[in-house]
Amino acid sequence: MLESIRSSKEAIELEDKYGAHNYHPLPVVLSKGEGVYVWDVEGKKYFDFLSSYSAVNQGHCHPKIVGALTDQAQTLTLTSRAFYNDVLGVFEQYVTNYFGFDKVLPMNTGAEAVETAIKISRKYAYEKRGIPENEAKIVVCENNFHGRTTTIISFSNDEGARKNFGPYTPGFVKIPYNDIDALESVLKNDKSIAAFLVEPIQGEAGVMTPDDDFIARAKEVCSANDVLLIADEIQTGIARTGSLLAVCGNCTCESKCERQEGSYVRPDMLVLGKAISGGVYPVSAVLTDDHIMEVIKPGQHGSTFGGNPLGAKVAMAALEVVDDEKLAQNARNLGEVFRERMNKFIEKSESVTLVRGRGLLNAIVINDTQESSTAWDICVALKENGLLAKPTHGNIIRFAPPLVMTEDELHECCDIIEKTILEFEKTWKK
Ligand SMILES: *Cc1c(COP(=O)(O)O)cnc(C)c1O
Repeated sequence: MLESIRSSKEAIELEDKYGAHNYHPLPVVLSKGEGVYVWDVEGKKYFDFLSSYSAVNQGHCHPKIVGALTDQAQTLTLTSRAFYNDVLGVFEQYVTNYFGFDKVLPMNTGAEAVETAIKISRKYAYEKRGIPENEAKIVVCENNFHGRTTTIISFSNDEGARKNFGPYTPGFVKIPYNDIDALESVLKNDKSIAAFLVEPIQGEAGVMTPDDDFIARAKEVCSANDVLLIADEIQTGIARTGSLLAVCGNCTCESKCERQEGSYVRPDMLVLGKAISGGVYPVSAVLTDDHIMEVIKPGQHGSTFGGNPLGAKVAMAALEVVDDEKLAQNARNLGEVFRERMNKFIEKSESVTLVRGRGLLNAIVINDTQESSTAWDICVALKENGLLAKPTHGNIIRFAPPLVMTEDELHECCDIIEKTILEFEKTWKK
């Protein structure tokens, strides 16, 4: 056993020397987490306001999820899909029932699930709709974030994510986000469109919330043109935005419902990851119905770890926690409180111009350029004051605490945010 870390400085030096520099972390080294809190190596306690990009919606080290992990880890972890295991089927029944689809295809990371949805939609286009082979296209939105594989970065417009990783995968058409006319025009004029892949709220782009009826209208346009609507809810799903899924709109029931109430829009394919396992173990999934999923036959797609009994048990426990603790309702209530406080604060603040979001997926916009370091500098100051958040751009900070937060804790966090920003503004030079 190697020696353990004695200081934050030492941990940072090790990562710097031996790890690839593919991230630029805030200078804090975490060694423990519980619920809405994390602690650094020196024992300082912080509110986590990122939740690992919304993977730990259920809070850090949730006992029920960790319990499922440790039980199953001592029983059976991996069989591969060469054999059946006695947990996968139970999980498949549970998760399809929970989200209201006929079938699920389990994978591990979000990007793999997006890749899976892309592959299924292309195959469906060729085999069920008669689009000539190799001609299917998928419509995506500008400023999308769907992961880091070569195909997915091929349709990103983030220079950092794309540059010098070509040649790029063809077959993607980009339209502006929240632009129904653009979608309609592409779908009308090009009969080789297989699917529209969209985030119901663009998280990485800076929590861009579209018009309330954007997804509903996108679904109408897709249905009218026989195009599949693929909702990437890897970040917005699992209660984050104040309903079980962002496509649930104002439908507030928790799970296992008919999903016909209120403004619920049913995508043809639902892509989940991150909080489906409460941040305990990588699990992702594509959910869809029989007539679509049946295009995948044995040997045509898979993953050694996808659908393993450990991940399956963890995901079931994580989804149970969402129901047990009414996390969607809590996210909805606390989101209102948060935006109300921030909107009041904006009147006092010189630097914060806007708060936007749904449920507990929110962002504040700073009165500075996308290239500035202002949001980063504020995040460093927030860290000093005991709250961890991360910019999505030079002028946007995303605020996404675990959904197990109480209202008192949220007020305490808003106090920290307001005090920190007011202090910061005293020395702020644009
Ligand atoms: C995080 C994320 C992904 C990628 O998930 P990974 O597990 O990092 O591969 C894809 N889509 C969205 C919307 C995400 O937020």
